[in-house]
Formats: sequence, structure tokens, C-alpha cells
Amino acid sequence: MPSSSYEATPVREIFCSVQGEGPYVGMRQAFVRFSGCNLNCNYCDTNFENPGTCDYEKVEGSGIFEKIPNPVSIEKLESLLQPFKKLHSVSLTGGEPLLHADFIEKLKLPVPLYLESNMTLPEQARKLRENIAYVAGDFKLPEALREIRPEARDVHVENTIECFRLLRKNSSRDCFCKIVVGRDTKPETVILAAEAIASYVSCIILQPETPVGSAVRTPRFTQGSVQTIIKLQKALLELADTRIIPQTHRMWGCL
Ligand code: SF4
Repeated sequence: MPSSSYEATPVREIFCSVQGEGPYVGMRQAFVRFSGCNLNCNYCDTNFENPGTCDYEKVEGSGIFEKIPNPVSIEKLESLLQPFKKLHSVSLTGGEPLLHADFIEKLKLPVPLYLESNMTLPEQARKLRENIAYVAGDFKLPEALREIRPEARDVHVENTIECFRLLRKNSSRDCFCKIVVGRDTKPETVILAAEAIASYVSCIILQPETPVGSAVRTPRFTQGSVQTIIKLQKALLELADTRIIPQTHRMWGCL
């Protein structure tokens, strides 16, 4: 897990692209991908180790990356984001960006901040209640986590609910919840999770585990599991606006 000082923190990538998930899909954003994560999800496909340098794509979509020394200072990050214009927001992603809350708290950017978080670090979330305009919060179901002890499951769920409470939607912030649904996800665990956070969010996104590359031709969902997720949406619509949206950036190969 990286340590974030106020002045500088390890960042893996900085680039400009479009949001590929959730209700803001297609919005133009700059992305800051921080190093490190406190979880170990069984479907994780993100390399969040600190590579020693940060990849910076100055021209969006070019595939040409400059190596920036790590850690990256607040002033350096602000200047690296400057070339990206007409942004909806700056996505703070990872890994887990809440590990870098002290650093994020000091950022001064001319566009809103969009936090993509696993929502399991309430003390860190508390620090950013005034800074974030959009919260894309995951509810990681305990069965999605590798190596979680049975006694840690309740704490994990309590921490998640507390993060949603702290960063809930209000007049100056949107907050929505994303739940990744695989073939083996039990609908009842999703319903329990949704019930716990429904009053804190504007909508719930059911995100079918999305295949990558050639696997796209071999869908992970059978007819039966498609029906299950559609039925799940119907049940959750009793609680909140609920949409089924896969990861769209994987479909057309953008970052
Ligand atoms: S929270 Fe995200 S980055 Fe961390 S292990 Fe889970 S999927 Fe990977």
C-alpha cells in the first residue's frame, strides 16, 4: 500500500479519454490513476503497483506515453492536467484513490472531481466530503474478495455503507453505486447491499462482468444468467433507479 504525503504521491497513469462506465458513460474526462489498493478482488484486471514512473499521455488517444518520475507533486499533477480542455471532470481512480485522500484534498483544479472508489475506507472518505462532485462508488460484495476472513466480512460491509453515507448524494454532489455482477453472483446478496445504500445514491448500476479482447465473442453470460440480471434489475427498481451498463471502453479498445 503506498503512503501518500500531502505534497506528492505515486501515480500510475495520467491521460484523457471518456468515461466508460455508469451513468456518465461517454463524458470526456482526464484520468488520474493512483497506485495501490487495499483490496484484492477476484475479478481485478488493474495493475496498481507503483512502477517507479508515471505514464503520461499528453495527446489523447495517441498511445504515446512520457515517463514522469514518481511520486508526482500536487503542482506537477495540476500542470500535467492543464493541456486537457473541455473536460466534464477529472476522474480519480486506481487502485484505490481514497488511499491518497490527503493529497487529493490539496488539489486545486478548474473542473469537478469524480471519485471512482471501492468505498471501504471511511476515515479517508470523511476527508473528501467537501471536495468531490461525483462519486462512482463500488459495493464490493464479500464473495468478490479474495482471502477475506469470515469475521472481516461484516466490517467490510459496514465500512462500505459508512462510505456511502459520508459521500452520499446532496445538492452539490452526485453519488451512484456500481455492483459488478458475475455468473455466480447471488441476487439476494445484491439486494441486501442495495437496500443498505439506496437512500444515499441517485442510481444503482449493475455492471455485468465484461469480457476483454477475443473473449468478447464468448459471452460470460448464458441466457439463464441474462435473465437473472434482468430480474435483479426489476427487483432493485423497487429501491432506486437501476440500470444495467457493461464497461463500454473495453468494447472499442480505449483506455
Ligand atoms: S478495488 Fe478495484 S483496483 Fe482494488 S483489487 Fe478491487 S478491482 Fe482491483
